Amino acid sequence: MKRFAIAALMACAAGAAMAGDGSHWTYEGEAGPEQWAKLSPDNYACSGKNQSPVDVKGTIHAALTPLKMDYHAGGNEVLNNGHTLQVGFQPGSSLMLDGERFELKQYHFHAPSENLIKGQSYPLEVHLVHADKDGNLAVVAVMFKEGAENKALTALWPQLPKEAGAKAALGAPLSAAALLPAKRAYYRFSGSLTTPPCSEGVRWLVMKAPVTVSKEQVASFAALIHHPNNRPVQSLNGRVILD
Ligand SMILES: [Zn+2]
Repeated sequence: MKRFAIAALMACAAGAAMAGDGSHWTYEGEAGPEQWAKLSPDNYACSGKNQSPVDVKGTIHAALTPLKMDYHAGGNEVLNNGHTLQVGFQPGSSLMLDGERFELKQYHFHAPSENLIKGQSYPLEVHLVHADKDGNLAVVAVMFKEGAENKALTALWPQLPKEAGAKAALGAPLSAAALLPAKRAYYRFSGSLTTPPCSEGVRWLVMKAPVTVSKEQVASFAALIHHPNNRPVQSLNGRVILD
């Protein structure tokens, strides 16, 4: 317990330093997900009606247009912010959605998965975070199921900074394309950031097909974060999920 408390404190120190707003949050305990909205006025959206993650079920068939990604090797640094490990991108990788260009800003991981698909949890989920010119967000989520070692992670994992607050330059630039499944079918719904300030209006695109990750790769990630980093699923409150 003490060890967890110290890890959480370090995580918050790092997170607060990154956010610059002094808010302190965790995945468990007194500053856990049920309390996020009360921790800071900035987090009021955490108690909103359009929150993420969700259990993807009861979907409505909508003949969604195929996702158009234009990803290049632009991932050049990785940050351990105490809450997750995040690869930052230089401009040049994008997603076309609703006639707008969304620039890939970063991707980061959650273990176990945050979203569920028909009630099923996965050992790992990656969120590829994009923003358009007005700051609207679109997140592409990919699930990892246990199986063969993931080659994209094989290149990244040894470079992950071990301490909260640490950042490292990547040896060679990475492309997010290596994280995508071959089949591009996806679910779509409106949701939020899954961490404070839980801002809503985020376009969520969850790939239907998972990719694989080895048990050892999941364990290596968990050993760096020290605790599960998934927010519990949130109520749909009447939202529809398209497929
Ligand atoms: Zn995330």
